[in-house]
Amino acid sequence: MTPNTDRNQTLFDRARQIIPGGVNSPVRAFRAVGGTPRFVQRAQGAYFWDANGQRYIDYIGSWGPMILGHGHPAVVAAVQKAVLDGFSFGAPTEREVELAEAIIALLPSIEMVRLVSSGTEAAMSAIRLARGATGRSKLIKFEGCYHGHADALLVKAGSGLATFGNPTSAGVPPEVVQHTLVLEYNNLAQLEEAFALHGNDLACLMIEPIAGNMNFVRSSVPFMRRCRELCTQHGALLVFDEVMTGFRVALGGAQSVYASAIPGFRPDLTVMGKVIGGGMPLAAFGGPRAIMEQLAPLGPVYQAGTLSGNPVATACGLATLRQISKPGFFEALSAKTRSLVDGLNGAAAAEGVAFSADCQGGMFGFFLLSELPQNYSQVMKSDGTKFNLLFHGLLDRGIYIAPALYEAGFVSAAHTDADIAATISAAREVFRTLK
Ligand SMILES: *Cc1c(COP(=O)(O)O)cnc(C)c1O
Repeated sequence: MTPNTDRNQTLFDRARQIIPGGVNSPVRAFRAVGGTPRFVQRAQGAYFWDANGQRYIDYIGSWGPMILGHGHPAVVAAVQKAVLDGFSFGAPTEREVELAEAIIALLPSIEMVRLVSSGTEAAMSAIRLARGATGRSKLIKFEGCYHGHADALLVKAGSGLATFGNPTSAGVPPEVVQHTLVLEYNNLAQLEEAFALHGNDLACLMIEPIAGNMNFVRSSVPFMRRCRELCTQHGALLVFDEVMTGFRVALGGAQSVYASAIPGFRPDLTVMGKVIGGGMPLAAFGGPRAIMEQLAPLGPVYQAGTLSGNPVATACGLATLRQISKPGFFEALSAKTRSLVDGLNGAAAAEGVAFSADCQGGMFGFFLLSELPQNYSQVMKSDGTKFNLLFHGLLDRGIYIAPALYEAGFVSAAHTDADIAATISAAREVFRTLK
């Protein structure tokens, strides 16, 4: 298509004049893979259409929230009804209570929950709560895990475990990250050493139990067990960031996956987002009553939001949770995602391309590596040039995967077996060109 008939390009050119990079969140700009971002015109089920009217099978689903696919009739109806009742009140509503009850019914680790508007806000608030509840300042995070863009979390490892992190973004003063210790994911020796050095000063350890921001990397069961034991021993809170995995890898989140391998396992605090809003701005954090009651207005930890628990967003989230709570939903979604992953593995093997892939529930990841990576530096050994060829090869064939090799993928209930089969055969064609 020549540039002057490409509406995506026209829109991108217009956008770049007035929005930094032409986008409102960096990864949308296609900078890792090159080319013109697709401007979405509309979406339905497993598909979206770009500004040229070109259809794509969507494996991003708004980076996870669209677990039912786009425009699910029950969700649309709930949102339409809510809109007629009013957009926002700045006063409590019954639906907030219903959503809190629904979340608590699904996650046994949570006795009380607070609703907010974004995952960033939820993670930031959970850390403040952990610090307030423990009276400590330090925290552990892991390289490759993303917990939103709060200052204290935009940090990379310092020069050793005795030293704390360095900012990864301009505008974050070094003093603000001086309490954040960054460790390698799945590295038991580092974990032990960090707790031996700093355990009694730690407010919390925050982790994506199945990391979805370095593509898809699970924490091993022994690693997770040790995280739990060390936090308990040292009085630090184990904070699960389930913004991506919550209600996505299983109805009970990643914590239910680890609880089935580690008897009695539960995190102290859980951060949620994405699926609980069903595509609307909604997120949450929750945990045991004694900790949550430290929040204002009951306790000394301040946290607030004008649009928190927004009535339209809560209607959307509630309708989404009701659909995914139906018997058999996750079994069907998991089987579909597994069939995609198995098919991609088979296609890569048939074409002699080094490849590995994993999935849980409706979330998957794949790598142009012969073995699944265990941490960020292994993920980054992926061949970026080949990934970009794969990305554009699939895009040209009407399949939209994440435009960066460090992002996970998402299957929705709306993807059909034919969509999955078309994706696998398109991938095989592209694999043939990668050798
Ligand atoms: C998306 C994400 C966030 C941030 O959520 P936003 O709503 O984008 O602020 C935090 N943690 C994890 C694990 C995420 O995937």
